Amino acid sequence: MLTLTEDQKMIQDVIRDFAENEIRPIAGKIDEDMTFPEETIKKLGELGFLGVPFPEEYSGAGMDTVSYSIVVEELSKVCASHGITVAAHISLGTYPIYMFGNEDQKRKYLPKLASGQSLASFCLTEPETGSDVKSLKTYAEKVDGGYNLNGGKAFITNAGFADVYIVFAITKKSEEKNEISAFILESNTPGISVAPKEKKMGWRASDTRQVNFDDVFIPDENLLGEEGKGFYYAMEILDGGRISVGALSLGIAEGAYEAALSYAKDRQQFGRPIGKFQAISMMLADMATQIHAAKLMIYEASQLKDAGKDFIKEASMAKLYASEIATSIARDSIQVHGGYGYTKEYPVERLFRDAKACEIGEGTSEIQRLLIAKMLFKE
Ligand SMILES: Cc1cc2nc3c(=O)[nH]c(=O)nc-3n(C[C@H](O)[C@H](O)[C@H](O)COP(=O)(O)OP(=O)(O)OC[C@H]3O[C@@H](n4cnc5c(N)ncnc54)[C@H](O)[C@@H]3O)c2cc1C
Repeated sequence: MLTLTEDQKMIQDVIRDFAENEIRPIAGKIDEDMTFPEETIKKLGELGFLGVPFPEEYSGAGMDTVSYSIVVEELSKVCASHGITVAAHISLGTYPIYMFGNEDQKRKYLPKLASGQSLASFCLTEPETGSDVKSLKTYAEKVDGGYNLNGGKAFITNAGFADVYIVFAITKKSEEKNEISAFILESNTPGISVAPKEKKMGWRASDTRQVNFDDVFIPDENLLGEEGKGFYYAMEILDGGRISVGALSLGIAEGAYEAALSYAKDRQQFGRPIGKFQAISMMLADMATQIHAAKLMIYEASQLKDAGKDFIKEASMAKLYASEIATSIARDSIQVHGGYGYTKEYPVERLFRDAKACEIGEGTSEIQRLLIAKMLFKE
């Protein structure tokens, strides 16, 4: 089950080297300064990592979801801000065009996105609408030749650097049920403004902003898929996105565990390495066990998706489990490091802050439990 193919092993080696050599040296600084890592993201694009799961005919790498999960995992082991930037670009921003776009839209947008010449954002959440997606307020009114968009989106990853926004808006208002549609919006369209970046607890080098729309004209050809199907598209995209937040969480958990293991071998107290104390070694045993389980869950969900099988429950479970163990493993890793773990001299305090976001983004833990429970009662 965990046996990787030669291609998967190859991509793991390449991305691991890149993360160690190019990202580790800057990870602490960009977190502290809240600097979006434009240069390393550009290099990732040049190496093909921004288009891993898309077919080669659209300038992607034509690889599977397991390979994509490995990329997000390895990046996040070292820097979760890089992990979320890549995950939001691929599975939230670019995937909708690949899945629901017509051939003209795919030919126009995918090659630039998959090769990393452009970045993408997924604009669903609004200031007053998070978990309850159906109550969106942003409205796209039908006008001659297109739509007139008004409203605003909150917490949008990559918003300040993206060239393409996937925007969800109401296209038909009614007492019982509003209809939601999805659009491809170019970020330089008149009427779009982005707020200053959010000052966040974690994922600090990733770019998160509010985006506002003031009489933005969207031409008819930029409607994504069918009018009125936007809610279902958003849900389908989030199902896949949960695999990548699971992989992101797994990477953070592994980074925190590896740091704790290495510290426990080196740090001496009472004349012996602290790893020789049972209290510390039991923490490490729990971490290793939880990481193994999370990895199996994430790779299984990835394989199910690749096989065209139902993967929604498995993706939700993997995201829920991996994000919660990432937070507890990062917290325990600080404990293993003692006072030093509480300082910026070691990366574990950053991993702890980064892990927490995984329990919120792309559906909170509470929403995952609701979704899983709903599916249990359907079976
Ligand atoms: C760093 C970051 C990056 C993000 N990036 C993006 C992005 O790129 N694009 C995008 O569209 N969004 C993005 N989001 C938004 C994210 O998806 C939402 O924050 C998340 O879905 C929760 O919505 P909310 O913040 O409005 O919380 P709310 O929905 O207001 O929830 C608040 C609390 O109530 C709980 N709750 C809500 N409803 C229920 C219920 N029915 N039962 C039990 N508990 C419930 C929640 O679990 C949570 O604990 C990002 C968020 C963050 C923090």
